[in-house]
Amino acid sequence: MAAESYKPHAVFVPFPAQGHVNPMLKLAKLLHNRGFFITFVNTEYNHRRLLKSGGGPAALAGLPDFRFATIPDGLPPSELEDSTQDIPSLCDYCSKTCLEPLCNLLTEINSSGEAGVPPVTCIVTDGFMCFALKAAEAFSLPAAVFWTTSACGFLAYTHYKYLVEEGFAPLKDMNQISDGYLETTLDEVRGMKQIRLKDFPSFIRTTDPEDIMLNFCIQETDATHTAKAIIINTFDALEQDTLHALSATYAPLPIYTIGPLLNQTTRAASSLWKEDNSCIKWLDAQHPGSVLYVNFGSITVATRQHLAEFAWGLADSRKPFLWCVRPDVVVGGGAALPPEFTAEVRDRGMVVGWAPQERVLKHPSTGGFLTHCGWNSTIESIANGGLPLIGWPFFAEQQTNCRYSCVEWGIGFEIDTDVKRADVAAAVIELMDGDKGKKMKEKALELKRKAGEATAPGGSSFMNLDKLINDVLLR
Ligand code: UDP
Repeated sequence: MAAESYKPHAVFVPFPAQGHVNPMLKLAKLLHNRGFFITFVNTEYNHRRLLKSGGGPAALAGLPDFRFATIPDGLPPSELEDSTQDIPSLCDYCSKTCLEPLCNLLTEINSSGEAGVPPVTCIVTDGFMCFALKAAEAFSLPAAVFWTTSACGFLAYTHYKYLVEEGFAPLKDMNQISDGYLETTLDEVRGMKQIRLKDFPSFIRTTDPEDIMLNFCIQETDATHTAKAIIINTFDALEQDTLHALSATYAPLPIYTIGPLLNQTTRAASSLWKEDNSCIKWLDAQHPGSVLYVNFGSITVATRQHLAEFAWGLADSRKPFLWCVRPDVVVGGGAALPPEFTAEVRDRGMVVGWAPQERVLKHPSTGGFLTHCGWNSTIESIANGGLPLIGWPFFAEQQTNCRYSCVEWGIGFEIDTDVKRADVAAAVIELMDGDKGKKMKEKALELKRKAGEATAPGGSSFMNLDKLINDVLLR
């Protein structure tokens, strides 16, 4: 009797935050298109949110051989319902408690005997969920680690160990943040030119040697060595030198750049908040390239004072804007925007709670992006719109992305952390109308062109996806 031929079955293990779930799901869909059976593992908390927002199984209904499964994140029950969970707690609990439920899930899938469900053949895990590599080992499965950060952000995390060994991190006291210490420029950091301490991911801004995030990042960059391959959502032409440095760090592991990963549909398959699509109609009525899109991602929180500075800066710029103000954006909760502001800008501004971001970025009316420089936002902006940006980094490797966007790629400028309305107005006017903005727009469009080449048939990212599948996941 001929042996039954199974589809390959990839289990995806994303870190449970929006900026990780999105690129993971995009990659899962690409593999699904290439004939893989997919099990996409969410935490129970996020899965509930996906169901509520109309994403996940609802958005992918009818897609055969694509399943969602859940494991607990291990966090104690909390009051939260529709908000990003505390990131350090998630990192800590997932790495300590999720291995066993993941192994149980793999055993369950393999022993279910359910018709049409092939045995698991490979794992794609998030760079922040490296515990899954131990599951891969236990089940003798090939596993690739997907770092959903930029290559430069990932490289910066790999340097944390050096920063600790050399005494740059943790800080001696928190006053070092305000007294200029973070301006210190380091000369000898592999693959990073003229990098300042303040450009490293923000988790070095602690005085605690036991700090969860500082140590977690060292742990996960170390654990990555035990994978069969590394995947990054970037493209070679954008981060060439950085990628060389990463290759040297992780040799002999192959690194596959497969980005920019883009949403191929208008359906919000992975949004944890319900998207407000009314803004697309509003954008349709605006002039080409006239609108500033403002969005600080899924985790950033701000004080009411900072939000007011942004609000009045936008008002004073007199430019049309589309601003995404998440319901949970204010530190401590409560209304985010001054009521007088909403009245004043009614004729030229729109505020939504959660936007269909990629549709906004590629809309012809959108001309610039005020962003926290999360990696997905940055690369989606390059690839969809070729937009110049104003960076207001909040945490993690957003600082690194902002530095590279402004200095290496020349597509943006940074605005001070302690933001003031006059600076916002001046930056917006320069970005949308000024010579600097024009040059940045040209560079961003050039990068958009290169991004398109990378993902087109025969391009570097296109070819790397083939290699990842054939040389690693099907082995
Ligand atoms: N996003 C969205 N609508 C919003 C805000 C964000 O769809 O209103 C998506 C965005 O397209 C991106 C992700 O959420 O894919 C945010 O990821 P990013 O890395 O930019 O930032 P993070 O949320 O992790 O800080």
